[in-house]
Amino acid sequence: MIVLKNPNELREVVQGWKHDGAEIGFAPTMGFLHKGHGALFSRSASENDRTVVSIFVNPAQFNDPEDYSKYPISTEKDLELCKAVGVDLVYLPDRDSVYPGGIPSIELRIPRLMRNLDAKTRPGHFEGVLLVLSRFFHAVEADRAYFGKKDYQQYLIVKEFVRMLGFPMEIIGVETVRDPEGLALSSRNARLSNSEKEEALLLSRALRLGERLIQKGETDPEAVRAILSDVLDSSTSLKTDYLEVLNADSLEELQVLKGEVLLAVAAFVGQVRLIDNITVRIS
Ligand code: AMP
Repeated sequence: MIVLKNPNELREVVQGWKHDGAEIGFAPTMGFLHKGHGALFSRSASENDRTVVSIFVNPAQFNDPEDYSKYPISTEKDLELCKAVGVDLVYLPDRDSVYPGGIPSIELRIPRLMRNLDAKTRPGHFEGVLLVLSRFFHAVEADRAYFGKKDYQQYLIVKEFVRMLGFPMEIIGVETVRDPEGLALSSRNARLSNSEKEEALLLSRALRLGERLIQKGETDPEAVRAILSDVLDSSTSLKTDYLEVLNADSLEELQVLKGEVLLAVAAFVGQVRLIDNITVRIS
């Protein structure tokens, strides 16, 4: 496995592979890797000749400076995980090589998909995500890029961004990996105390209750929101950031639930902000 910090070296290696006819898969991450990231890497390794992973805590996408400064880092362990699942190259750039001359002032927006959820409560977040991805996509020139559906809105936005800007690349969404109790794996879970972990389980519990209600035939979004809200409000130390029931393709609100429905929640457990979602198909 090759580990590189320099974008020019990255380009050179990738160009060599492409010259040899290899198909390339790419999974961008911010590190502190877990089995959720591992699922993206394994999927890429099974569908491509070469897999590139980037590990970069992107300052441009943090709207909360404390969240950025406290973001956990574990490079040695991360490299072991990458090696174990068949990653060929890990790109570990520093801030200056990604943003020589500083973070540029540019607004990359897809208004249609950036009206609610994280786009609303984390202003500037997706603009920062799209900025770093543009730079990485130019450097890696992958055939396929892998994104977790845990960050469902990000997955939709990136898919649309790549289509609109004509990056010749397929965006592939990978299902959320959870711990045995249902908690969606996240690098931020490392910052939870044991009691906070219990509270954090309420997110996936609420989503599953909502899913069951829909499967039993409920078509009123307000009724589903109410159930989710009851579960989340059952803990006084959990603060809901958002709770939405939306069309899973357009992220638009629905009067009556139909088609593919997205249930999405974000909540602060102590100081840690967690997100989770599920989609339910109504037939
Ligand atoms: P991050 O390092 O949090 O920026 O995540 C990097 C990629 O891994 C993103 O595409 C995430 O959606 C994905 N990811 C993070 N957690 C999970 C999970 N539990 N299951 C599946 N994918 C995940």
